[in-house]
Amino acid sequence: MSRPKKERSVKQPPLYSSFKPTGIMKSHLQQINLSLDEYEAVRLADYLQMEHEEASIEMEISRSTFTRLLEKARKKVSAFLIEGKELYIEGGCIHFRGNIIRCVSCGHMFNIGFKDELNLCPNCGSENLLDMAGGYGHGRCCQQYDRITRRS
Ligand SMILES: [Zn+2]
Ligand SMILES: [Zn+2]
Repeated sequence: MSRPKKERSVKQPPLYSSFKPTGIMKSHLQQINLSLDEYEAVRLADYLQMEHEEASIEMEISRSTFTRLLEKARKKVSAFLIEGKELYIEGGCIHFRGNIIRCVSCGHMFNIGFKDELNLCPNCGSENLLDMAGGYGHGRCCQQYDRITRRS
């Protein structure tokens, strides 16, 4: 039996999962899939300007793996900008360390742990809540990861 690929650590679900150039019908666009670990590499290295060493520790991967991941991600993001494609974020062998809940009624967003329960919006009391990690097919799986004692 082959060992399952180790999951890469991603802080939180992305707030937006799909992007496209304006004025072009979706059906005319080619798609680029950015995986969740590629998204996280761009977020850490480019958005937060984190050193690769630090970012690789954050994602629980080696520095060389991080650099390769970032290169792949940048290639996709640049192709999206220059060639005009639809970019959607999905997949990747990852777990989230925390979740985000968005209230559909008032738009507020809340950081939440996978063990926490939130049934009503603390801001407006609405029950109409969107589970962001759930939207990416995560939830219980990430909660399980949380129970595993972390190496320090
Ligand atoms: Zn609300
Ligand atoms: Zn998960």
